[in-house]
Amino acid sequence: MSSEKSTGGNDMDDERTVEVWDVVVVGAGPAGASAAYAAAVAGRSVLLLEKAELPRYKTCGGGIIGPSRDSLPPGFELPLKDRINAVTFSLNGKYTRTRRSRNTLFGLINRPEFDAQLVEHAQKAGAELRTGATVSRVEQHGSAVPDRRTVAVVLQDGETVLARSVVGADGSASRIGAHVGVKMDQVDLGLEAEIPVPQAVADDWRGRVLIDWGPMPGSYGWVFPKDDTLTVGVISARGEGAATKRYLEDFIGRLGLAGFEPAISSGHLTRCRADDSPLSRGRVLVCGDAAGLLEPWTREGISFALRSGRLAGEWAVRVSEAHDAVDARRQALNYAFAIKAGLGVEMAVGKRMLTVFSRKPGLLHAALTGFRPAWNAFAKITRGTSSLGELVRTHPVAGRALSRLDH
Ligand SMILES: Cc1cc2nc3c(=O)[nH]c(=O)nc-3n(C[C@H](O)[C@H](O)[C@H](O)COP(=O)(O)OP(=O)(O)OC[C@H]3O[C@@H](n4cnc5c(N)ncnc54)[C@H](O)[C@@H]3O)c2cc1C
Repeated sequence: MSSEKSTGGNDMDDERTVEVWDVVVVGAGPAGASAAYAAAVAGRSVLLLEKAELPRYKTCGGGIIGPSRDSLPPGFELPLKDRINAVTFSLNGKYTRTRRSRNTLFGLINRPEFDAQLVEHAQKAGAELRTGATVSRVEQHGSAVPDRRTVAVVLQDGETVLARSVVGADGSASRIGAHVGVKMDQVDLGLEAEIPVPQAVADDWRGRVLIDWGPMPGSYGWVFPKDDTLTVGVISARGEGAATKRYLEDFIGRLGLAGFEPAISSGHLTRCRADDSPLSRGRVLVCGDAAGLLEPWTREGISFALRSGRLAGEWAVRVSEAHDAVDARRQALNYAFAIKAGLGVEMAVGKRMLTVFSRKPGLLHAALTGFRPAWNAFAKITRGTSSLGELVRTHPVAGRALSRLDH
């Protein structure tokens, strides 16, 4: 951390030393931990602020697809609870069919453990962690800010922390996102139950997930097995809370799991950014859920958080070195370009997939269960050997079919 002289008040005798961090990261989920890691590895002073005590629970299926695995810091060992090589698909409980693969499709983790391990990696790289630290707001002008190269991060208890650059990774209800002016154009509600089950039930699910295309447009449900616990969840557009709750209850009932008491039942909103939404303001960058970066169709967000977090950490380093507002803006815009060129393209295809899926879930179900190339594409995407964007780009037939359907 750089210690710099700053004048407190008007009295020159009151001059005192103020600590200024190169990068302050708000939120220690996958996005924040990645940002902190990237900035710390670059040799900068990094403070990671997290409102919860770690490990903390996060409503999430914990599905780790190839791009998530490939974005982990070097030496990171995934705390896998299961490796998935079979998927049972159903259409609102009907037309059930299981597809199998010789190789692992994706892995499943528990978020408290996974997130805490990511934070440990950031700490090992040199980042300092403060838990129980809720950020109320950031200020880039005004009395709390000693000079134009500094951002003030104000905590709930009134303490102010100073930084050359700030990364907002504080999740889908982000305060830093509000400061930046992030605009969302898709908001969904996810409901989940962590259900401990007897050994025989757990054995039946081992290595296999279930995906059910739901009754409301764009909705779906899942069963993700993790040792002796099944994570059962559903997601649908916000505003249909009662129907989403009913869907989860019916889903659990249909699966014969209603007799088991969930250890945790929770809900969480996911938000996808609008195309023209900002990713920065002044010396403040946003990433992960805070920026509305997640796949609009599947609502897969861990890989988006890891990838955007790493980029945010790298560009925050450059913003922290910027000597004036113009330079800071240039670096922040470079961050936005990097996001738009990669994750932005994937999000655009995901939005089109969601449109098609919302209108014709049966068609998608039929393709995945009865048309081998569609299943192979699903397998490639989850393994990370291809992406939705790449498939549409390199397979003209897929591109044309998508264009026809989403119009
Ligand atoms: C039901 C459901 C299931 C999902 N399943 C999957 C899945 O299987 N696979 C997948 O890839 N994605 C899944 N997602 C999406 C995924 O959970 C998110 O995209 C991912 O957690 C985003 O990570 P993040 O680091 O941006 O935010 P978060 O993980 O939400 O982390 C934000 C952190 O910021 C902290 N924080 C918040 N406010 C403040 C503050 N003011 N001050 C300090 N700290 C603060 C929070 O405590 C939290 O630790 C799912 C989402 C839902 C809702």
